[in-house]
Amino acid sequence: MKLYFEAEKFLKQSEGNLQSKVFNDKNLKSNPKHIYALVYSTLKYKEYIQQIITKSKINKQLKISNELLALLIHDLLFSSRGRIESGKHHIKDSFLANKTRLQAEFIKLKLKYKVKSVDQLPTVEQDDETPIRWFRINTIKIDPERFFKKHKLNLQPVSRFQDLTKPGLIYQDDHIPNLYGVHPKEKITTSTEAYKLGEIIIQDRASCFPAYILNYKDEHSKIIDACAAPGNKTSHAASFVEDVVYAVEKDSKRVGILKQMSEKATGKNKKKLIQVLHQDFTTIKPEDYEDVTGLIVDPSCSGSGIFGRAMDEETKNSDRLEKLASFQFTIMKHALSFPGARKVVYSTCSVHAEENERVVVDLLSDETVKNQGWTLADREVVLSTWERRGIEDEFMTLTRDSEVIKKLAGGCIRTIPKEDGGIGFFAACFVKK
Ligand code: SAM
Repeated sequence: MKLYFEAEKFLKQSEGNLQSKVFNDKNLKSNPKHIYALVYSTLKYKEYIQQIITKSKINKQLKISNELLALLIHDLLFSSRGRIESGKHHIKDSFLANKTRLQAEFIKLKLKYKVKSVDQLPTVEQDDETPIRWFRINTIKIDPERFFKKHKLNLQPVSRFQDLTKPGLIYQDDHIPNLYGVHPKEKITTSTEAYKLGEIIIQDRASCFPAYILNYKDEHSKIIDACAAPGNKTSHAASFVEDVVYAVEKDSKRVGILKQMSEKATGKNKKKLIQVLHQDFTTIKPEDYEDVTGLIVDPSCSGSGIFGRAMDEETKNSDRLEKLASFQFTIMKHALSFPGARKVVYSTCSVHAEENERVVVDLLSDETVKNQGWTLADREVVLSTWERRGIEDEFMTLTRDSEVIKKLAGGCIRTIPKEDGGIGFFAACFVKK
């Protein structure tokens, strides 16, 4: 049952890219490829598996998590093998005792959708399959020119990411320096020497916006990344910083991944560039970090911008969004209280205004934040070439002045999943007046 227990944890997590989470997890005992394939396919058929759980009422009988149940149902009914991959285990036995009932529900489901086999079931084009595989040359480790000489990639340049229709092509991003896009099937991913040496970081384009915005026309010698694991934005920020990035992470498992990623990204010589702090960011005393001038705040969110979740009803659950927004507000308010901070970049991989513009509006309306002198930066220093900005209507609660509204929305950036070549994302840049 080890495979299922290990896969269960990935199914439970709603954050981050599945592929990188699985393949970066050094504690896995099962083959990561098997885990990834299992979780990926279970997510793909999630809505059908859930129907079988509800109709068969098997969840009332088996006292195991819904995720574990989904994985077992997946392998029994939705996989080509049609069997549970494990030796003897009491959970497997109790599950298989319901086999006939589950198979009957499966037949009914196929009749309902008028299909003969699983692969004919309509599934949302969901997944972790990014339309483009983005990678960033890690300039802490290697100079970009030397990178291309050393690795002889032999790829044909294209001028738009939309032209990356097959392997063998490469696109140099117009917005973020040292960022490149290739076809998802290009072999520049996790198995290459460049990746293993930490010379490239596989990172979605939008996820590179915060560190770039923070350091654009600005120099910081000390930065805090308040919600750091697995550490993509941390290592990007470290490539700009003079002294140190304090990478704060409260989750004990994720802090392990953060440490590994940070060590790989900096190497022995520059390991002091990133200092990992295993702490809840809100418990860090701002007065202890007076010389920190910039912060990145990329807190937990609904993940609705990540492929496959954008259409997920669960991510729109208003109670959940309210709780997330309140947490996001708290963590941001704490970040804005650092005495030396002059720029703070807030970001989420959510497409919901509740977690994005509305958190920003709440912060701008907060008396303490106002008195500290925070506002949103002008568009010209917030990746001005990017067309999609914040939703203007969301700022109407602050003012009716259309110029001011436009200016505030200009201090924010949005990306649309897939259409913009990657995940759905939001970033807002706060600066002190
Ligand atoms: N910035 C990361 C990157 O680009 O690789 C991704 C960050 S992820 C969206 C949010 C992270 O914040 C999670 O690892 C979560 O455990 C962490 N987190 C949540 N609440 C926190 C808190 N109060 N203090 C520190 N970390 C926190």
